[in-house]
Amino acid sequence: MLVYHLPGTFETREAHLDLLWEAGATGLEERAGLIRAYFDEQTDLPADIRDGEWRDEADQDWQAEFKANLRPVQAGRVTIVPPWLRAEVPSTQVPLIIEPGMAFGTGHHATTRMAVEALSALNLDGQTVLDVGTGSGVLAIAAALLDARYALGVDIDPVTIPIATENAEQNGVPAGRAAFMVGTLGDDLPGDVVTDGVFDVLVANLYAELHDLLSGSYVGHLRAGGPLILTGILVSKLPLVHEALDREGFTDVQVRTDGDWALVTARN
Ligand code: SAM
Repeated sequence: MLVYHLPGTFETREAHLDLLWEAGATGLEERAGLIRAYFDEQTDLPADIRDGEWRDEADQDWQAEFKANLRPVQAGRVTIVPPWLRAEVPSTQVPLIIEPGMAFGTGHHATTRMAVEALSALNLDGQTVLDVGTGSGVLAIAAALLDARYALGVDIDPVTIPIATENAEQNGVPAGRAAFMVGTLGDDLPGDVVTDGVFDVLVANLYAELHDLLSGSYVGHLRAGGPLILTGILVSKLPLVHEALDREGFTDVQVRTDGDWALVTARN
């Protein structure tokens, strides 16, 4: 198995991750201060990422190893598990089954966990929830399982939509309670026939720069007084999000952190 070892982390080399994908990487992993990029064949790399080293490593069933090491993730009232660990969820918790796969959002990232915790701290009974950047659908599905009347997940990556839809089905969420569509804010949300595009709660696990860009649209898609939950924010980039929320008139801004990651809640 051919692995390119690039010094640094996903955070410090954020700008170079796309270069690895464009060069043909089939997977990226971060371990002990190294980015490990998996390739089918050795290839010429752009100058910015030539400081790494090609290694031919003994084959190992990484997927089996990854699966064997997965543990349930508790996030407030919800426990996120892969299907084969469903029986480990205590009866006092709401089980949320996510098949680990190609879309982001198994619950193992601090941002997903904090977002589910924030949803779980709200009373979602009868509420409508917009999940921007839905990935595996985890946040929209969590909202539906926490009694939201309707959750819509949107994502610019079309690959995510069938994955999120399947995850919702696996959790027994009826199609009318959670819907997923390709798109972003500013679009007409054409699949959304339940709300008029204005939701009771808006949650988005993206990144600080995008929150800054989208913050004006958050105002338009969230009812007055409705809770906004934003994560995917590096602690070092919190000032950008604070400025954006101030600019758009959000109030009651609160921050939680977990390691390098922050979650910000506010009211419209
Ligand atoms: N919501 C999941 C979670 O909390 O684990 C997945 C979050 S993942 C960090 C971010 C997702 O946002 C990706 O699936 C990506 O395709 C999507 N995305 C990126 N930019 C977007 C945009 N402008 N509008 C909508 N989705 C976007």
